[in-house]
Amino acid sequence: MKLKKLFVYIFILVFLSACAYQSSTAGGSIGVERKQLMLLSSAQMNSESAKIYSQVINDANKKNVLNADKIQLSKLRTIATRLIEQTKVFRADAPSWRWEVNLINSKELNAWCMPGGKIVFYSGIINNLQLNDDEIAAIMGHEMAHALREHSRERSSQSMITNTTIQIASTLLGFGQAATSLASQAANIAITLPNSRANEEEADRMGVELSARAGYDPRAAITLWEKMKRASQGAPPEFLSTHPSHDSRIADLNEHVNKVMHLYKKS
Ligand SMILES: [Zn+2]
Repeated sequence: MKLKKLFVYIFILVFLSACAYQSSTAGGSIGVERKQLMLLSSAQMNSESAKIYSQVINDANKKNVLNADKIQLSKLRTIATRLIEQTKVFRADAPSWRWEVNLINSKELNAWCMPGGKIVFYSGIINNLQLNDDEIAAIMGHEMAHALREHSRERSSQSMITNTTIQIASTLLGFGQAATSLASQAANIAITLPNSRANEEEADRMGVELSARAGYDPRAAITLWEKMKRASQGAPPEFLSTHPSHDSRIADLNEHVNKVMHLYKKS
């Protein structure tokens, strides 16, 4: 019985690994070419995200913190429209996604884009860091890139593989519960950590290309991260963080901004 179960898990793992590698986007000028493991469907991810998004928006609305600053909101939506038009470089289907952009009044230094193009900016990041349009475009381009590359879908797929691998190990070696949970943590560090850093790098690189093509100065990504660095003194060292350190991020951005300056000058 145990052996049969083991064969089933191994079969699933081999089958999944063999057929599920693909690339969610074209490479663009900055050349994002990494193949990704994709097990769940985009439709599945997008419909889950749409549900969560409408909860967040309804909640903000009830608390009277939704889209209070009309001037700031219209600025965000203008920047989004220009960036969305350029997403075609990476994905032909993206300009016709059901993109949404909303502004929530909050001190949080944050902004995000859910799978399928559901964007939220918090007023805190715009006001506290005194962001200009180019810097807002840098953040928005970065967040859009996570959605274009379907990083959430990739992360879910990886955790499916991690869980299957742990099942195999437990069945094979007769691990107890504690050992299994340790293995799970180890696998998480081995698989999730380096890869989400790779995801950040991809989003940075694609973000500067989107900005440049839309006519926003891609060098703003660097001033933005310098502002973030000042705002987050005492952040954990790079090794412990899932995000690249500010300094290595700025160095990588410098290199890739140079590659897209011609696109900015042409736009
Ligand atoms: Zn990111």
